[in-house]
Amino acid sequence: MATCKAQIPEETLLDYWARDLADGDETDRVEEHLFACGDCSARLRHLAALGTGLGTLVRQGRVSGIVSRAILNRLQREGVHVRMFSLVPGETVPCAIFPGDDLVVTALRADFSGVDAVTLSVTGPGESPIARFEDVPVPGPGGEVLWVTPAAVVHEMPSMRLQLTLASAGATRAELGRYVLEHSASTPSA
Ligand SMILES: [Zn+2]
Repeated sequence: MATCKAQIPEETLLDYWARDLADGDETDRVEEHLFACGDCSARLRHLAALGTGLGTLVRQGRVSGIVSRAILNRLQREGVHVRMFSLVPGETVPCAIFPGDDLVVTALRADFSGVDAVTLSVTGPGESPIARFEDVPVPGPGGEVLWVTPAAVVHEMPSMRLQLTLASAGATRAELGRYVLEHSASTPSA
């Protein structure tokens, strides 16, 4: 199959598939391109195949890492129970899960002006490394990085303080924000 020289960006394709494209013109352009391009059509089919199984994968605890807003919207529309924590740089937020939660999403906001990609590192007590994500693409200056953890995994965690750090990827590695999740293992009764 010929490789497309003007590939629809992954993010746009995902938004199109999740029906999150706002304006009609953009949808028309994407559809026109897909009609003519076998390469991009194949990429869309691949995404769609992933999507039908998304809710199931979540419930099996197999969705984790960094996701896009389009994927998160899609999950919520499919009835996945998302517990969301939103943090700005310097903020400390208490974190706990409740019965019925499927997924814990930590939304990290920062000023992403001039930044294309970031590194997210998560550490526990004594700087012990818990997770690290390199070269995470940033969805624009006012965007957010969405870190997803299966609720079943969080459920097993003891009470602890998690430190999250966002830095720009590449040579400069400027720190964009530090955040703290104060995780409490005891689940408040609903
Ligand atoms: Zn194409």
